[in-house]
Amino acid sequence: MTVVACRACRKPFAARVADINRGWGKFCSKSCKATEQESRTGQHRTHLQRRNAETSGEPEGFSTAQFFSNEADGENTGDVF
Ligand SMILES: [Zn+2]
Repeated sequence: MTVVACRACRKPFAARVADINRGWGKFCSKSCKATEQESRTGQHRTHLQRRNAETSGEPEGFSTAQFFSNEADGENTGDVF
């Protein structure tokens, strides 16, 4: 074991030399790894933006479907009579 400083929070923690040699042991926890990755890539922010866009699009699609079904009913009735 050797003490290294976490790359995200700078807190010293004990990492295994074998892990450091494998390219691991840079962060004291998984959440610190995620924090550092997020600040570098912005992956999580992009994911949230995409999810918000999908949610705001849902009610619009639903009301459009209702509009079409009402219109179809009216036209069919008119054609039959
Ligand atoms: Zn940390």
